Amino acid sequence: MTTELPPQPPPHPSSSPPEGEPARPDERVSTLIGDRLCIKCGYNLTGQSVVRESHYQMLIVRCPECATVASLQEYPILGVWAQRWGALLAAAWLVSLLASFLIVSLMLSTAIDSIAYSAAWPLGFELEQRQTAWQADLPPTQSPSPSYDGELNITWWRAQNRPELLAEMGGWTEIADWSALFGLGWVLAIAIPAGILWSAAMLHLRRNWVLLVTAVATGALTILFVVREYSYYSYWGVMGKAVEMIGPYFSAMALLFAIVPLAIGVYFGRPLLRVMLRAMLPPRLRGPFAVLWTAEGLNPPVPGGGAIRTAR
Ligand SMILES: [Zn+2]
Repeated sequence: MTTELPPQPPPHPSSSPPEGEPARPDERVSTLIGDRLCIKCGYNLTGQSVVRESHYQMLIVRCPECATVASLQEYPILGVWAQRWGALLAAAWLVSLLASFLIVSLMLSTAIDSIAYSAAWPLGFELEQRQTAWQADLPPTQSPSPSYDGELNITWWRAQNRPELLAEMGGWTEIADWSALFGLGWVLAIAIPAGILWSAAMLHLRRNWVLLVTAVATGALTILFVVREYSYYSYWGVMGKAVEMIGPYFSAMALLFAIVPLAIGVYFGRPLLRVMLRAMLPPRLRGPFAVLWTAEGLNPPVPGGGAIRTAR
């Protein structure tokens, strides 16, 4: 990577070869990588040829739009502090990425838990009625008084056969409240922006890899959080038992479904951000975002604004 010197004035007539000396063509040395904006017109010079100009033997890049010369440093001054800042930035990037996996997984698991809970609600109600009926048949001396609504009577529960209970109610698909799946709207609202964010945060990866990495990382974390939540349902009385019985079907469905909005975010995130940048930022400010184009082998947008062209 070449780094820049302080801006220099545009080529001066005195920089032409002295009298009698034949003009030599500029020697092409390499290609500019990284973002470097033309000081005059704001064009992003990334991808332009770095040439050794014939007079002073200095490395330069010429702006293809306005021919302004940008000077380059032959040996990059990368002191120990530049390296430290680079390492710090890389560490900050990694920490933010891991934090985003954690936050998105927590949000997803909350949405998934609420879907499982809502779906199991009618079953919980049904179980409670059966338990109440069973308690009403007991002699008054044996009838325990529950300390809260929906407290599980463990004697009654031990006498129940879960598959038989569900079969009596027509199976889990019959007793479940399918309107709980409206909660998938939350999964959409969480996973699509997350996919967009990650597709931009991992520009060095192809989108298939971004999807794989994020799906595995958030999938594993979300499963962990959901499973942890299931370990608490045993304290939730009758309703907790209902969630334990049919919640996993819905948790699994919601978890698998989450891959769809994540993929949408990852695959459409970069094109979407490019469209937004084009629409919202004037060409001069787009320069630093050129990596959104170059990372996918596209040409950054050329500042084609009439204002710039007529100004010269
Ligand atoms: Zn220019």
